[in-house]
Amino acid sequence: MSNISELLSQSSFSHSDLEQLLQCEGEEKKLLFDTGGAVKEIHVGKKVYFRGLIEFSNICEKDCFYCGIRRSNQTVRRYNLTDNEILEAAKFADENKYGSVVLQSGENSSPAFAERISNLIIQIKKNSNGRLGITLSVGEQSDRVYRRWFEAGAHRYLLRIETTNQSLYRKIHPQNKAHDFNHRLNCLHSLQNIGYQTGTGVMIGLPFQTTGDLANDLLFFQQFGIDMVGMGPYIEHFQTPLYEFHKDLLTIKQRFELSLKMIALLRILMKDINIAAATALQAIDPFGREKGIKVGANIIMPNITPGLYRNDYTLYDNKPCIDEEPAQCKGCLDARIALADGEIGYGEWGDSIHFRRRTDKQSI
Ligand code: SAH
Ligand code: SF4
Repeated sequence: MSNISELLSQSSFSHSDLEQLLQCEGEEKKLLFDTGGAVKEIHVGKKVYFRGLIEFSNICEKDCFYCGIRRSNQTVRRYNLTDNEILEAAKFADENKYGSVVLQSGENSSPAFAERISNLIIQIKKNSNGRLGITLSVGEQSDRVYRRWFEAGAHRYLLRIETTNQSLYRKIHPQNKAHDFNHRLNCLHSLQNIGYQTGTGVMIGLPFQTTGDLANDLLFFQQFGIDMVGMGPYIEHFQTPLYEFHKDLLTIKQRFELSLKMIALLRILMKDINIAAATALQAIDPFGREKGIKVGANIIMPNITPGLYRNDYTLYDNKPCIDEEPAQCKGCLDARIALADGEIGYGEWGDSIHFRRRTDKQSI
């Protein structure tokens, strides 16, 4: 067994190297975290870019076993922001120099939804004079719809693969065509082919998940040539089927630490991608996102959903900041990023350098 500092000086990593690194503790873990932070500074700099997150609807056609807003959870108060509310939130992002917004919601495959999103993209671009970058995170859609939204002006898309272990994927989803691993993977290929900056991610600390699975997830990101990753701890929600296994989970602290190790390792593995410090990190530790930034993340997604609705976008228990209005979050974030020794890229898109390199290569 090699020691961690030897492992960290390698330029490529095998599955067993990654597994060993994911299991390190104490001084070795500190070395891993420091290396993640140092690699980030060298390759993407100190800047942290904002993506104002608008969780515009919690209505969802799907029934993922882990998610609090799954279709079968009848206790959820469903909401759908009006176009005006979404445009107002985007205006807030623009005025506060967030640079970009993310439109996220439950999944909806209707033509009316596709049409609505197209119009919103066009409006946001128009109202901000093209200043705001737009990331979408609205699940699995047809190639045609993805193309339409790209042409309307969206240029990044986040679709987490959730886990690359197909048998685990089947355990955490209903067995039907709407929850098919290969379909989700094909969607990621579609997005990449269309020309989106393509983002994915996994949940960390799922029931039945092993460090071997997580090592495979990291290798998958690398082999796929992903441009952006948003990954974070799985946090159980008491009104979901997966809650049944909550007693078998790693402790919440262990899931948090494992998530930081995944971020640090991914930064070492894929030096020039964008990595988001997921909100779920902050649900566990009040400085969770800042810790994510310290070990290698460079993107933060402040929630700018109007406060009124935030309580109802409960993917998991104890979601942070649900009582605050966006303006309150802002002052708080400035101070937090400074604490993590970062600078905020105000008014900048902060596109993935990896994407630029990948697409430049293709056009030669
Ligand atoms: N409906 C879209 C986008 C909204 S859900 C989609 O599924 O792609 C966004 C992400 O929330 C999911 O990809 C999932 O990884 C995460 N999520 C859902 N339930 C969660 C939980 N209990 N703990 C942590 N993350 C969760
Ligand atoms: Fe719907 Fe996304 Fe939740 Fe699955 S994870 S139930 S698709 S909102």
